[in-house]
Amino acid sequence: MALDDIYKETILDHYKNPRNKRELPGAVVTCTKNNPLCGDEITVAANLEDGKLLEVAFEGAGCSISQSSASMMTESVGGKTVGDAMSLAADVRGMLAGEVEPDEDVFGDLVALKGVVKYPIRIKCAVLAWDVLQEAVSDGGAASGGAAH
Ligand code: ZN
Repeated sequence: MALDDIYKETILDHYKNPRNKRELPGAVVTCTKNNPLCGDEITVAANLEDGKLLEVAFEGAGCSISQSSASMMTESVGGKTVGDAMSLAADVRGMLAGEVEPDEDVFGDLVALKGVVKYPIRIKCAVLAWDVLQEAVSDGGAASGGAAH
C-alpha cells in the first residue's frame, strides 16, 4: 500500500469513527469556529485542571479533513498541559505548511494530515480544529485563571 493510501485510510477512519465526538456538559472552555471556504464547522469543549486538558471533545460537521483532524486533535491533546497542546498545535501548523517534519512518535495519527500539504485549499480544513482549541483555551485561561489584564 502506498503511503498516500495509508494516510487516506487513517483520515477516513477518523471521519467515519470520530473519537471524542460528543457533548461535554459543563465544560470549562468551549469555542466554535467555521471555515466558510468549505462549510466546515467545529465546536471544541474541554475541561481544564491544574493547567492540563482533562477531557477534550468536539462536535461539528464538514469535510473529512476537518472532521478527522478534530478527532485526531482531541485524541492527541487530551491529558496534555495547555502549553504542550499549544506547542503541538504549532507543530501541526508547521507540518501543514511543509516546514516541520513530523515525528511519528509524537504525532501518531496526525501524520496522516501531512498529505494535505499538497492541497493548499484544504489546509484551512485541517487547521480549523486547532484554531478552535487555541481560542477556547486562551478564552478559558483569561476567564478562570485570573490573568492580569
Ligand atoms: Zn473542509
